[in-house]
Amino acid sequence: MRPLPVWRVRLDDRMEERVVGMFYYQISTIIMNKHFEISSRKQLDDDFIRLFDTAYNTNYMLFNKPIPRFKIIACHSNSEFKKEARYYYTKWATATVLRNGNLVIKHPDISTKWKKSDYPDIINHEMNHVFWTLLYKTTKPAWLEEGMASSIGKNFSKYSLKKLINDFKINSKILHYRYIKRKVTGHIPFYPIWQGFTDYLVNRFGSGKIIILMNKYSKNPVKDNYHKLFGQIFGKSEIQLFNEFLKSTNADHCV
Ligand SMILES: [Zn+2]
Repeated sequence: MRPLPVWRVRLDDRMEERVVGMFYYQISTIIMNKHFEISSRKQLDDDFIRLFDTAYNTNYMLFNKPIPRFKIIACHSNSEFKKEARYYYTKWATATVLRNGNLVIKHPDISTKWKKSDYPDIINHEMNHVFWTLLYKTTKPAWLEEGMASSIGKNFSKYSLKKLINDFKINSKILHYRYIKRKVTGHIPFYPIWQGFTDYLVNRFGSGKIIILMNKYSKNPVKDNYHKLFGQIFGKSEIQLFNEFLKSTNADHCV
């Protein structure tokens, strides 16, 4: 067999790249560092690779705990994304984190929804899910899992919370404990509100309190334990605090 050509990526010494073999008649490369590896059927540029490194460090500072090695799969066609995203595939998704913690993402070249400049925030969000999945092994409470990822990714920071709360008459029922896709899709702005409330908690109590809550809750991830721990750690129920958050936005619609 002829030797395979090797693509070299000029990165710092924490990263190395090697050719792993033929994959669907195309050469696949794996870019590795201490914490994860990125597999891709096309060469990736350094700037794109570094986004994952940066997002890893940002999230590591938040969770302050190492996670097992995981994989990132950069997809270069919709069919490849569909295959890799498996049970989490949706037509409008750009990236997802599988139950084993692996991150599957569309390369910016095939995203019709996002520009390259949106990718740092998208990758920060998804990397938060990687840590959450590998450390806590649960997707509950759903509002906090997505709220935290969106808060780290600043994904909805441009939205006017006051306007959303007024327009959609938001109340604490929006704090879903369990993620149910058919309920979360649609027009209600779940993610922006979940991010807004998470930002509020982080600003008022510090992100460390959320991490303490999750470290304890994940040992016994049932609803009763969540309510009990939330009250213990924040001094109030999440409904009380959510109502205080609503007031803080000066929305007209307050409970
Ligand atoms: Zn998410």
